[in-house]
Amino acid sequence: MAYVPKTLVIGRCVRCGKKLYRGDEVYYCPHCEVYYCATCAKKVFYKCPICGKELQKR
Ligand SMILES: [Zn+2]
Ligand SMILES: [Zn+2]
Repeated sequence: MAYVPKTLVIGRCVRCGKKLYRGDEVYYCPHCEVYYCATCAKKVFYKCPICGKELQKR
């Protein structure tokens, strides 16, 4: 393949604004459709602070 993207940004952590890359430990709330980085997911005890539902690991 000629085109290999170096960075695959899948989104930003809604809490701290950090860019999240494919292959990183990323958590997602399917209800709010927002992402959380591993640090923030831990701080909110793996529950979405917006809706209170459990975060899914990506
Ligand atoms: Zn974060
Ligand atoms: Zn949520």
